This record gives sequence, structure tokens and C-alpha cells, in this order.
Amino acid sequence: MFSIYAHEIGEEGLEHEEELSSEDLAVIAENDVVYKPLGGWLKVKLSRVDDYIRVNGTIEAQVEATCVSCLDTFKVEQKLPLELFLSPGEDIDEASADEEEILVEDEKSGIDHYNPEEPIEIGRMAIELLCIALPMHPRCKEDCKGLCQECGANLNHETCNCRHIADPRWHALANIKLDNK
Ligand SMILES: [Zn+2]
Ligand SMILES: [Zn+2]
Repeated sequence: MFSIYAHEIGEEGLEHEEELSSEDLAVIAENDVVYKPLGGWLKVKLSRVDDYIRVNGTIEAQVEATCVSCLDTFKVEQKLPLELFLSPGEDIDEASADEEEILVEDEKSGIDHYNPEEPIEIGRMAIELLCIALPMHPRCKEDCKGLCQECGANLNHETCNCRHIADPRWHALANIKLDNK
């Protein structure tokens, strides 16, 4: 997966494109079992002014998702524009008081940091952002009817003969009717 030392980025900048395998994207599955990564594509353009690095580009991935409502699987095409600013700096925990002030200010303005001694893991950073962008509770479609809570039938595909008052919002209503008898 793409990573690069800051000093390898020339004044003229650098472009990079690569295909992402399902192994590259494995973190998507680790974070949330409802997703299974199929593949993806990373495209970035790096530019450097002094020690400041700007990353522009896109990451996209094809992911198989499991609907939280009906448990059907469906494909998701997630595409995310990337725009990152990086400045050299260490972890806030290890910084001195003066440095810490600068780092906190940077963080407020959306600037991340990189360790000049180590390669910058652009690929990993992009995939983490993609993970965050994926919905926590994916649904196959807006009006997914879900599963019948009585018999387990997928109500998107079939109808069943159960009475559908399993939705807790209806319980109060059902009780009122009983009380009035
Ligand atoms: Zn569904
Ligand atoms: Zn049913």
C-alpha cells in the first residue's frame, strides 16, 4: 500500500495511482462485520511547500454490505474525495509545551502531522477515512421492509400471514384499544 517519505516528494509534486485489493481494505471488515471489501482504487496527487504536504485525490471501494434490517447483502460503491494537509510534528503526547501549542492549533485547522523519520502512510490514512465515511447501519434501500419478527420472512420479497404489530411503536396503540373494551 502506498507510503512515501516526505523528502521523496519533489518541488514539482508527485502523482500516484494504485488498485486496492480486498486485503488492502481488510480494515473495513475488521471495523464492522457488516462490510466485506471487494476492491478499490486510490488516486492521489502530492505537493510539498517546504515541509508542508498537501494530498489531493480520491479513494473508492466496492464493498459488500449486509442490510441491518433484512440481512440481505448488497453492493456499495463508496467514493471519497481526499484533501489532507500534513505538517511535520510528533505525537502531541511527546511534544514539549511550546510544540504542543502549535500542534493543537494545527489540529483545529485540520492539519495532520507526519513523522519526518518515517514514511507517510498515505494509503492507510485514505482507507481509514473511507471506513469512517461508510454508514454505520447500512440499509439495502431506504424503505427496506425488514424481516417478519414472527416467522423471519424477508418482507421485501414475500408476504406472510403473521400479524405485524411487532413494531414497538404500535404496542401503545394496541394497549389503548384493549383498555377501551
Ligand atoms: Zn434490507
Ligand atoms: Zn411472518
